[in-house]
Amino acid sequence: MNPTYRYCPNCSAPLAEGEKFGRVRRYCRYCGFIHFREPKVAVAALISREGRILLVKRAAPPRVGFWALPAGYMDADELPEEALIREVAEETGVTVRVEGLRGVAPLAGWAARRGILLLYRAEATGGVLAPADDVSDAAWFGREDVPWAELAFESTAEFVREWARESAGAP
Ligand SMILES: [Zn+2]
Repeated sequence: MNPTYRYCPNCSAPLAEGEKFGRVRRYCRYCGFIHFREPKVAVAALISREGRILLVKRAAPPRVGFWALPAGYMDADELPEEALIREVAEETGVTVRVEGLRGVAPLAGWAARRGILLLYRAEATGGVLAPADDVSDAAWFGREDVPWAELAFESTAEFVREWARESAGAP
């Protein structure tokens, strides 16, 4: 969850609220701590192979039981590409090579207005499909059988629709 500090995480004094660096923020009168609401950063992968894409069925809120792109939050000591490779392997067992940044979207669900999602194109290079972690299933879907009504998030559904349009136009 997004922390809303009431006490200073440095010195435990109650925080005040006031204009700091152009916005109303909580701050500490004693040690100078300012609570900047820094964005959460998530990464998602559009992994295609032989005209199909890899989707995962969510086992954790929000949108349990709906399908989504493999995704997860970046740790502070990772680059986005490293987080992507780690998350895809954790959720699906598939190893990937990151091809490039496809787009940026706002986070959806409970994380809405708390950060951004970086969507990358990736190519599956190996591994064995084995759903784990916070997904209950993982499967490859062709353009014709994407479960459109059961996609978890509108922001990533848009990327899936773009992929479907492009693959329809491909020779
Ligand atoms: Zn303080």
